[in-house]
Amino acid sequence: MNPSEIARETFKRLSLQRTPPTPDNYRTLYHEISGTAETEVFPEKSFKSLAASLPRNTPEQSRFARQIDSAVGDKNWEGLKTALADLLHKAAAEPPNWSALIRELLVRLEARQADLTPARKREALDHVLASSAAPDLLHTRLQGLLKNWSQAAALETATVGSTPAEVLNASAVSPAPTSAKAEIHLSAHSADLAQGVTSELLDLLAQLLENSISILLTDNTELAGEATRLINVARCTKNTEDIAAFVTSMKRFSYRLHFVAEDQTELKTAMLHLLHLVIDNINELVLDDQWLQGQIAVVLELVSQPLNLRRIDDVERRMKDVIFKQSALKKSLIDAKDQIKLMLATFVDRLADFSETTSEYHDKIERCADKISKVNDIADLSDVLDEVMRETRVIQLNAQRSRDELDQMRVKVNAAELEVLRLQDELANASQMVRHDALTGALNRKGMGDALEAEVARARRHNTKLCLALLDIDNFKKLNDSMGHAAGDAALVHLAQVVQQAIRPEDTLARYGGEEFVVVLPDTPLENAVTVMVRVQRELTRQFFLHNNDKVLITFSCGVAELGTEEQGMDAVQRADGAMYLAKRAGKNRVLAA
Ligand code: GH3
Ligand code: MG
Ligand code: MG
Repeated sequence: MNPSEIARETFKRLSLQRTPPTPDNYRTLYHEISGTAETEVFPEKSFKSLAASLPRNTPEQSRFARQIDSAVGDKNWEGLKTALADLLHKAAAEPPNWSALIRELLVRLEARQADLTPARKREALDHVLASSAAPDLLHTRLQGLLKNWSQAAALETATVGSTPAEVLNASAVSPAPTSAKAEIHLSAHSADLAQGVTSELLDLLAQLLENSISILLTDNTELAGEATRLINVARCTKNTEDIAAFVTSMKRFSYRLHFVAEDQTELKTAMLHLLHLVIDNINELVLDDQWLQGQIAVVLELVSQPLNLRRIDDVERRMKDVIFKQSALKKSLIDAKDQIKLMLATFVDRLADFSETTSEYHDKIERCADKISKVNDIADLSDVLDEVMRETRVIQLNAQRSRDELDQMRVKVNAAELEVLRLQDELANASQMVRHDALTGALNRKGMGDALEAEVARARRHNTKLCLALLDIDNFKKLNDSMGHAAGDAALVHLAQVVQQAIRPEDTLARYGGEEFVVVLPDTPLENAVTVMVRVQRELTRQFFLHNNDKVLITFSCGVAELGTEEQGMDAVQRADGAMYLAKRAGKNRVLAA
């Protein structure tokens, strides 16, 4: 039978049996006649309205409603069944352990934590209580709160008296603090709930790291690598243990990121300051742009590498000195050039005078020649000759005087020209010379003062250790006396070279006095600074100073001081000097901590 015959037959039977022709009766009879199984129609509309009426006040309710929505959308009976079964399971699951939670809250609330006072904890607790009406949500949030407090406490224990690096290492050993682990005994039920919200947060965090924070880290490959790792972790994190580990990593990361952000702000200010200096100097030096090449080269070199605050500070100090010196030199140069101009003007005047005198002389001689041609008497001739002789002698004297004067002037002009060349040279070299000791190339005392000031400020800002080492060559007077002053000078150059090679690029070497040097060691605790100076000492025994092909062993005595929390930089240098003196007294060739 075809469908229209079945339909006709169905209507016939409905009328014979006097059954009301409702859609349900029609459907049943139709299947009976055709011999097909009656398929149940999915009541989508009804289910949709049912799903729409479900409460969605808590994460748990929302999650259940979402499950129903999705099953209805797919007309999926199985999905509906699973959602209902889950709901019943959860209802039958163990109720949250409130007494354990409250006990833990009371203990944690009063526990002493440096950056989390009981008042702040109470405030957070009030907030959770006010914003979590549903008991399950309240339980989950209170557990979250407890976890935060205990992690902050764990991080604090790791941080006290440690450098950032130590904190990082300490946390790296145990990614999830054990106390935090103990507290993550969320029931499967709450954990599921938390997971919905957490996965959304993790996704947001991954986006934040990828789109924004990575821009901050273009110059910091190590931290950028850590960011990439965290993005991957955030996207793969599934269970609560993973989340606890991720939170610890994030805390560590944001602790370090904080310094990067701070440094970048400082970098920007320092950079602007530097540019101002350069531009001001360009204004000053419009006469000859060759003088600017030094500064321009320094700035170009600076900006061609990843920015580094210490290097910018260094360039800024150099610039200031160069600008100061160049403006002084510029004045001398202008004076010297003015003097040359003045001399040239005098020279031209003299030349004009001279040619005037010679033309007068020519006129006179012509007049005399005229007289001679007209002379009849020999006695008259003698008068004319006398006149010629007189004029010639005058012009001779004049010429001689002019020649002498011009000679003198030429000498002066030459000297002035040499002075101009010397000043121009000095001007060009100014950037190299000003802050550095001309003999050894180490910073001079002024350079050291500036470097020390900057390092002390940086150490205070970043709460890092700063050490100062003062070394004094042993028996240097004897070396001078036996080998001569020039050999002494060469020995100083050799020592400076060896020290410079043995210390790190961020350490600074300065010549403090005759045969005394200071090494500034940023970010270095006392013990390490002593080790560094002992290494320098050993290096000097390896790299001999050669005098006339003879190996000469240079040794030094050294004192090392770590900058005190409130101490001035120069006071620490004085303490290092004291320790150096003790090292001399103890037999020289040794390093002592102050
Ligand atoms: P000690 O082991 O106790 O330090 O004895 P010392 O001889 O090294 O110390 P002292 O202070 O008695 O002598 C330092 C000498 O260093 C004296 C000075 O002539 C010499 N000196 C200082 N500056 C220079 C320099 O630039 N070149 C040379 N060649 N010698 C210098
Ligand atoms: Mg000395
Ligand atoms: Mg000495």
